[in-house]
Amino acid sequence: MKSTRFNPRQALLAALVAATFGAPASAVGSNVTWEDILNDDKTTGDVLSYGLGLKAQRFSPLSKVNTKNVEHLVPAWSFSFGGEKQRGQEAQALVHDGVIYVTASYSRIFAIDARTGKRLWEYEARLPDDIRPCCDVVNRGAAIYGNKIYFGTLDAAIVALDKDTGKVAWRKKFGDHKVGYTMTGAPFVVKDEKSGKVLLVHGSSGDEFGVVGWLFARDPDTGEEVWARPMVEGHMGRLNGKESTPTGDKEAPSWPRDKEGKLVDAWNHGGGAPWQTASYDVEKNMVVIGAGNPAPWNTWHRTKEGDDPRNWDSLFTSGQAYVDASTGELKGFFQHTPNDAWDFSGNNSVVLFEYKDPKTGKPVKASAHADRNGFFFVTDREKLTSGAGYPNKPTALIGAWPFVEGITWASGFDLKTGRPIEKGNRPPLPKDGAEKGDSVFVSPPFLGGTNWMPMSYSPQTELFYIPANHWAMDYWTEKLTYKAGSAYLGQGFRIKKLFDDHVGTLRALDPKTGKIAWEHKEKFPLWAGTMTTAGGLVFTGTSDGYVKAFDAKNGKELWKFQTGSGVVSVPITWEMDGEQFIGIQSGYGGAVPLWGGDLADLTKQVTQGGSMWVFKLPKSLKR
Ligand code: CA
Ligand code: CA
Repeated sequence: MKSTRFNPRQALLAALVAATFGAPASAVGSNVTWEDILNDDKTTGDVLSYGLGLKAQRFSPLSKVNTKNVEHLVPAWSFSFGGEKQRGQEAQALVHDGVIYVTASYSRIFAIDARTGKRLWEYEARLPDDIRPCCDVVNRGAAIYGNKIYFGTLDAAIVALDKDTGKVAWRKKFGDHKVGYTMTGAPFVVKDEKSGKVLLVHGSSGDEFGVVGWLFARDPDTGEEVWARPMVEGHMGRLNGKESTPTGDKEAPSWPRDKEGKLVDAWNHGGGAPWQTASYDVEKNMVVIGAGNPAPWNTWHRTKEGDDPRNWDSLFTSGQAYVDASTGELKGFFQHTPNDAWDFSGNNSVVLFEYKDPKTGKPVKASAHADRNGFFFVTDREKLTSGAGYPNKPTALIGAWPFVEGITWASGFDLKTGRPIEKGNRPPLPKDGAEKGDSVFVSPPFLGGTNWMPMSYSPQTELFYIPANHWAMDYWTEKLTYKAGSAYLGQGFRIKKLFDDHVGTLRALDPKTGKIAWEHKEKFPLWAGTMTTAGGLVFTGTSDGYVKAFDAKNGKELWKFQTGSGVVSVPITWEMDGEQFIGIQSGYGGAVPLWGGDLADLTKQVTQGGSMWVFKLPKSLKR
């Protein structure tokens, strides 16, 4: 593996002191109720969940800023996160009672007056120097409930803070950061309708270091674990402090055994980390989340010696998982990449939406997911939440369409079996005596046709807006043994361009047909999330520093603003004092400059930063 990874020792310099700065906010805000969170997608005065609602559609009903006036947007204020080390700012902010809660690199969180941009308080986690973040020191956001704000830290812990003062209420360590457990995703609040209990749900990260990925549900008041679900088949879950049920079949038949009948070593370190944020099916009481790649990346370590890798699925990795909020049981699963050989993972947002079947006119409850493997999946949520889709029954797959060009690993999906039609793109084993296998050309590369940056859906246009990329890699197998705390890949790679004129491609996709309605090309990789509004707009950011607004119908670029560093975060919008505001963070970093080969070289010209920007229409504008 190349030594371009983030050096965790740098974190120590930036985090010598863990402290809460600033005086307590003068006004104590109201507590956030479950009803507030349940209605978040409809209420315009606040942003209380990652995804701007439990379905994670990232659609705002606000239309004060719209296709006709968006060209006049100007900054209201900007706030610097400060700090000696800046790096990637990948968060989505929250807004409640006129206060913005935004997380930043190096496990920091800020409360900012939404009207003035004044800092109310700041908390910076004390990070040990032996943390193991694979892909920069990012944090993707917080959750809010009651009088508390919650966020994860790079040393595999989750912290609850008093939302008005920033004072720590509780902190729970959930894994050993020395072996690779970490946390970058935003936690999420759900309510178990059976017990009436509100739960704080979050996952672990760490697949690149060979940990077993876990999904946790906690009491938001105390941080005590309610249930925990490992994502590798055959590993045991927990409920109320006791062993509950194994994930899938306890014999783990999707993982091979050696000649003595013992499960292969990869099973002990099998990955599947649900490191992004869940969505929630309220009717079915079901947490919906993507599971990460199997570990190691090297497919042969998860294939019976001498057998075809396509016969081994490495469940329950690289797919979408449906977990019962009451018990933490895995009820449904659809695998995007069986026995994933390319670190495609399955983590990217799973968006819940409804549409009318074009053939029958019947309403369909579906999930949508744009995978790193280049395919856009529409699955039957009714089946996946009622157990019928488990494990990976073909009928749960409604459609799988390529959303990028030049996919090398599969030509499509068989809707009858739900499985990919592979094109023989798995990197071969090293020949006798060789250290490395022959290199294969792979597109998309492991950085994905899209990646963590969440897509959005507009019920107005009935289109999804995917921040996609066209790129490729040379890819070869390498010899590997597990060593705690070391990268567990067994693959070498070099990321390169696929097309000369662009890498980023913002794409609008029709989930009923898989057709691309429009695309907008960018020279640099796209690494920011998208948001849609009832004003007919799509907002996103670019790695060369712009915040941009597009016409959701045709992709026409209507507005842009240069923020001074690359934008790799997730936009929000809210209403305050009769005006609509748009918020986004600037600060380049993330996986591309660390792992991106030729594209890391290309983006070297982007300067570092770390700030939040808020925009609105000028008061003088006649509307
Ligand atoms: Ca809201
Ligand atoms: Ca991974």
